[in-house]
Order: sequence, then structure tokens, then C-alpha cells
Amino acid sequence: MSEPLLKVQGLKTHFFLERGVVKAVDGVDFEIKKGEIFGLVGETGCGKSVTSLSILRLIPSPPGKIVEGEVIFEGENLLKKSKEEMRKIRGTKISMIFQDPHTSLDPVFTVGHQIAEPIELHQVIEQHLISAEEVPRKVIEMLKLVRIPDPEHRVVEYPHMFSGGMKQRTMIAMMLSCNPSLLIADEPTTAVDVTIQAQILDLMRELRQKLGMSILIITHNLGVIAEMCDRVAVMYAGNIVEQADLKTLFKSPKHPYTHALLEAVPKVGTKKGKLASIPGMVPSLITPPPGCKFHPRCPHAMDICRKKFPQMSEIEKGQLARCFLYGGGAKK
Ligand code: SF4
Repeated sequence: MSEPLLKVQGLKTHFFLERGVVKAVDGVDFEIKKGEIFGLVGETGCGKSVTSLSILRLIPSPPGKIVEGEVIFEGENLLKKSKEEMRKIRGTKISMIFQDPHTSLDPVFTVGHQIAEPIELHQVIEQHLISAEEVPRKVIEMLKLVRIPDPEHRVVEYPHMFSGGMKQRTMIAMMLSCNPSLLIADEPTTAVDVTIQAQILDLMRELRQKLGMSILIITHNLGVIAEMCDRVAVMYAGNIVEQADLKTLFKSPKHPYTHALLEAVPKVGTKKGKLASIPGMVPSLITPPPGCKFHPRCPHAMDICRKKFPQMSEIEKGQLARCFLYGGGAKK
């Protein structure tokens, strides 16, 4: 778990609208090592999903555009690849699980057909890894891998005959059918209940172990992060504001926004009372506040925070924060 599989550097993705430029991702850096589970966490609208769509070059353009940065995957910059090369990479090396399995599966085709399709395209036609005759066996194998009971019979069923959890596991089977080295899971458990959530997370951990792939988890849910991740980056208004290994982030958070996020998590056993919430609103990404974008909501804001944009500084080995309380070498 040492060599980076993915390295995102200085990534900026903006949306050019009539009312102004939405700087959804505004200078993001992180890397994911081989076999690592990396979490990107933050409130809705902080730029997490735009970051993952940028990695896959799936930003709707116009109005979206990756305006700066590099996405180095297995040593090559994905932002320099042609559309055709990216289509192949998306089908074979990087896969993405979206939030809602109910809308991601096509209701008019059997689940077996939907798992077979990417296998036929990538493994039979493009890469000649298996023959067309072997596809049905491979489909059953994938359904077994994601623990669909009685796969030989259920393979001919339609998505509406599957429970929410089984649909999500079918989605995972589709995404894993081509052995990707990176799986991107965008809010993988938002649309399912807590029991199913636990099963899906358990399955993803097991698959990482079995298949040795890296996983990027995008979520607003710190519980999912705590269950799954080796390292975590916290995003706020288009920037990463803190990055650390899981234990350090939960035991010794540094950035005031990370503190606020952790305090907003309801704790079992605490007395009935008011649930902590982060005061204030997520800022506009068209006209963000000057200086530190968190300053209007920060209980520790100082004069410098209203004027200068803080840089990332390393606080301890592997723990970085973008805050003047910890250096934050001013820029802008
Ligand atoms: Fe708060 Fe200032 Fe740190 Fe921003 S830089 S989080 S405003 S203390």
C-alpha cells in the first residue's frame, strides 16, 4: 500500500453559467495508494461528486470544464486522454457506483443481461480475455461474488424483483465485472436502509481484500467513513481543508470545519437535547467569502482569515490542514 494509484493535483473544475462561474472544485490535491480505501467527506455541494466526475471526465460540458490540474492514474494523465481512451478506461480500470440503484438499473432488461453487457464489450470484444460462450458463467460468478442468493435462477429476473440491497449489489457486480483497479463509490448507501448499508459496506471491504482494488468513497456520512476508510479528506466549498488517516482524523481533528462535522454526528447514549448543527450556510461557490471560505461559520476566525486564503500545512506526518491556526502560509 505505498505506490499511488491515483494522484489528483491542483484540480479545478468550474461551471460557466449566465449568473457567474461556479467554482465547484477549486484546487484539489490528494492521492490514493494501491489497495487503499480513501474517503472524501463534506456537506452537500462542497465539490465531492464533481471531483469524482472530473476524475472520470464525466463533467457535462458545457457548462462544466476542467480548467486546471492533473489526474494521474497508473502514471498517466487522464486529462490528456482522448474520449475513446477514456471510455475504455471507464469500462475496465476505473468503475463508479452511483447513489441510486433504482435508477441505475434498466427495468426492461434482466439483471443477468445488464451484467453481461460490460463483460461482452470489454472482455470479449475489446480485450479478447474470454470467449462469448464463457459470459453466462462469468455473470453467475459475479452474482456469487456479491452474494446474490441462488444466482443461477435469479440471473433471469428483472430489477423490480430484487430488493434495494440486491439491486445495489447487482450494481456493484456490474462495476466489478471487468476487475477495475479503482472503484469510485458515490454515496453508495444513501438509498438503502441501515441494515443493507452495513451489508454493502461489508461487501466492499471484503472485495477490496479479495480483489486488491483501491476504493474512493464519496459521502456526507461520517459513519460510512469511520467504517470503511484508511485515509480521509474533508472538503469544504471546493477545497480540501483537512487530510489525515482515519484514526487521527477522528481522535485529533484540527480544522474547525472537521470539528464541526464531527460534533454534528448524533452520538449513542447522549442525553436528549438539541442536535448539534453547523451554524450558517454553505457559501456560494460563485461569490465565496474572501479569505478562508469557512470564516463566516468559524468560531475561531481571526482578522487574517477574512483577508487571506490559507494554504495546506502539514501538522504531523500525514495530517494536513488548511487553517491559520496551524500555519496556513497565506496566499492571494
Ligand atoms: Fe477558522 Fe481562520 Fe482556520 Fe478558516 S483559517 S478555519 S476562519 S481559524
